[in-house]
Amino acid sequence: MIIYGTRGKVIPGAQINNMACKSCGGQSHSTFGVLRHFHIFWIPLFPTMQSPGTECLKCKQTLMGKELPDQVRQDIKEAVFTKGRVLPAFSGLVLLAIVFAFAGYAGHETSKKEAAYLEQPAVNDYYIVNLPKLFTKSDPTHPYGILKVKTISGGQLEVMVANYAYNRPGGAQQAITKHETTQAGYFAAESFSIDAGDLKKLKADGALHSIKR
Ligand SMILES: [Zn+2]
Repeated sequence: MIIYGTRGKVIPGAQINNMACKSCGGQSHSTFGVLRHFHIFWIPLFPTMQSPGTECLKCKQTLMGKELPDQVRQDIKEAVFTKGRVLPAFSGLVLLAIVFAFAGYAGHETSKKEAAYLEQPAVNDYYIVNLPKLFTKSDPTHPYGILKVKTISGGQLEVMVANYAYNRPGGAQQAITKHETTQAGYFAAESFSIDAGDLKKLKADGALHSIKR
């Protein structure tokens, strides 16, 4: 369950003595600002409302936003909604930006590694592949499988094919990280050859999804 909504706070401002109360004629008012922000799990994402207000010190009549004279409204806004008070309402956005920047960096590092693996294949490399793009007789509902490099000689890779297939690339990745791929019978007994020079083309075609080493 995602918890989200808006939360608000009242920021007290200075007393003003230059506005006549429409109700009692009193000149003195306290001022304040209502700052509301949208939050997800109480992390503020962005402000949704910044409304200045006044309260008559004599009769307690309250005026908000557009009910205030333009100049008074402007003065309270400037005094109350300072950067220091409003910027924290954006802290979730800053957090999101950091998360995305990190994800982008991690993705960039992965593709750099993969480019190196394509250039210099090694024995025991795992290739997560799109089976229907390699083998015509494949189950289209479980298109992802794993190849393992058995030997490399003279620019030819001898690879083994997994006996298992997955509906998502993540399923194949998990099989590798959970060491299922090292268990007996995971790969079929027969192997086939790939020209090392074709790896980049397979990657570009989407037949080779990703490489794990
Ligand atoms: Zn009043």
